[in-house]
Amino acid sequence: MTQFSFALHATDGRARTGEISTPRGEIRTPAFMPVGTAATVKAMMPESVRATGADILLGNTYHLMLRPTAERIDRLGGLHKFMNWDRPILTDSGGFQVMSLADLRKMTEKGVTFKSHIDGSKHELTPERSMEIQRLLGSDIVMCFDECPALPASKDRIAESMRLSMRWAQRSRDAFGDRPGHALFGIQQGGLEQDLREESAKALQDIGFDGYAIGGLAVGEGQEAMFSCLDYAPDMLPVDKPRYLMGVGKPDDIVGAVKRGIDMMDCVLPSRSGRTGQAWTRRGQVNIKNARHQDDPRPLDEQCTCPACSNYSRAYLHHVFRAQEMISGMLLTWHNLHYFQELMQGMRDAIAAGRFAEFEAEFHAQRAEGDIERL
Ligand SMILES: [Zn+2]
Repeated sequence: MTQFSFALHATDGRARTGEISTPRGEIRTPAFMPVGTAATVKAMMPESVRATGADILLGNTYHLMLRPTAERIDRLGGLHKFMNWDRPILTDSGGFQVMSLADLRKMTEKGVTFKSHIDGSKHELTPERSMEIQRLLGSDIVMCFDECPALPASKDRIAESMRLSMRWAQRSRDAFGDRPGHALFGIQQGGLEQDLREESAKALQDIGFDGYAIGGLAVGEGQEAMFSCLDYAPDMLPVDKPRYLMGVGKPDDIVGAVKRGIDMMDCVLPSRSGRTGQAWTRRGQVNIKNARHQDDPRPLDEQCTCPACSNYSRAYLHHVFRAQEMISGMLLTWHNLHYFQELMQGMRDAIAAGRFAEFEAEFHAQRAEGDIERL
């Protein structure tokens, strides 16, 4: 059986390209993971998600444990079979979403108790329970249970939270056990404090993980602060393991993160934007709701090969959004996911060819031009 492994193929500056191997298939890096919160990438069939170029999806432990429950998914053959996606799945630990979505949370050394935002039922998440849920789901890449404090916070509060997360990382490792073909990733915390990031990276490496995430960023600190942290944080992690930046991001965040040595990312942005009439293109963001598109027979992006751009006009996309037709979210989500995956492929090719700096300059130049002139 194929084991979980990571091979680095080329580097260009700090940017890296390579491949993660799992029993369910390869993941080309740098990789963008579409988010399939409730066992679906909203508005997309799984085969369509694959057609955009996605090698791996992200599933949310918090949502799935509440509905339809991990035990039910397990009885029905696991998350891959349940949602008809046979390629790799990464699941988060539930920690971040408990903090952002659940009601009446109470945190102790043991874990977090909370009330469901859906029906008010009471639940407990601990490192041990999170590992159990992610095993029941059949996740290929399992994330440690951690706490992510909202920024800004005092340094003492960030230090205390980070050390709790490191104790939970050890408990996650112990509870995960030995599962050939499945990976467990540790999560570096420490906010924007370099010494705390260093302490966290060392604690995680003493435990030992199959990959390492950078947590606690993209939580409202802004791009400049995030990039400052990424100027040092990835280099504290092992060079021969995948590095995953959680919850990022916009296309320019993604390019800046890859430049700083990140291998994996996830974000709801392409799918969420698609449902609110926002398209991401080589030339920046396009608001399809705008009346300027209503008589425009041109595609969203004439160079894009996605179904939305190949077969439909801006006028049609504008019309179906205004008429609240379901195909609106379907087409724009497909386009956005296609654009994000094409961006990743462009970066992988550029890194392999040793021309990442040129790629980055071209990326910014095209965006600076803005959307095509109105008719
Ligand atoms: Zn397109």
